[in-house]
Amino acid sequence: MDDNQLLRYSRHILLPQIGIEGQEKLLAAHALVIGAGGLGSPVALYLASAGVGRLTICDGDEVDLTNLQRQIVHRMQAMGMKKAESARQTLAGINPEVSVAALAERVDEARLETLAAGADIVLDGSDNFVTRHAVNRVCVRLKKPLVSGAAVRFDGQVAVFDLSGADSPCYSCLFPEDGEAEDVRCAVMGVFAPLTGIVGSIQAAEALKVLTGAGETLAGRLLLLDALTMQVRTIRLAKDPACPVCSTA
Ligand SMILES: [Zn+2]
Repeated sequence: MDDNQLLRYSRHILLPQIGIEGQEKLLAAHALVIGAGGLGSPVALYLASAGVGRLTICDGDEVDLTNLQRQIVHRMQAMGMKKAESARQTLAGINPEVSVAALAERVDEARLETLAAGADIVLDGSDNFVTRHAVNRVCVRLKKPLVSGAAVRFDGQVAVFDLSGADSPCYSCLFPEDGEAEDVRCAVMGVFAPLTGIVGSIQAAEALKVLTGAGETLAGRLLLLDALTMQVRTIRLAKDPACPVCSTA
C-alpha cells in the first residue's frame, strides 16, 4: 500500500482483526455482485469504499424514478442509464482505485459460471428465485462463498453459504426450487427503504469478513430481521442430505 492507501484505509488498519494484512487481502480480492438495486447499492458502495480491489456488477435494468427511494448508488441524473454503469460512475467518485466492471446484462447460468469462476466471492442482490437458484448452483459447483440477501416489505434475510465443506448447506437446502417459497418482488409488494440498506450492509460486512477471515460469519446460519419491530434472530441451517443441488449422494 502507498501512503494514500494507508490513509484511506487507516480505520480498517487500526482494527486488529483486519490490519494491514486484511486490508491487503481486500485490495487483492474480486467480488461478483448480482444486481445493482436495493441490496446491490449498499453492497457495492461498501465493498468499493472499503477497498475490495475488483468488483463485477451485473444488472440489466435501467434506473427509474421508483428506484431512487432505496437504490442509493444511483443519482437523479442517472435516470434512464443502465444501473450497472450508473453504479460504476458513483463508485468511481468514491474510490477510483477500485476496478469496476459494469455488465448491463441479465446473466444466465452459463454466463454466471464464467463470471463467478474469476471471483473470490459472490453477493446475490437479485430479486427473483430463478436468478437466486442459478447463482446458488454455480457457487455450489465452483465452491465459491455466496452471500445471499433478500428484502421485501419490512422483512429481511441474510445468509452466508460457505460451500467449501461437504456438510455446508446451500441456498437450495433452505429454499428448494420446487418449494412453496413464492417470488414476492418489491415492484408489487413494496419495500421499506432503509431495510434494503440494512440487509445490503450486512451482506457487505459478511463479505469483508469472509475475505479477511475476521470474526465469525453467518455461514450455516440465516439472519431474519423484522424492521417493523426491529427484532433480529438467527437460525442454524442444516444441509438437506437429499438436496438436488449440493448433495453428493
Ligand atoms: Zn443444498
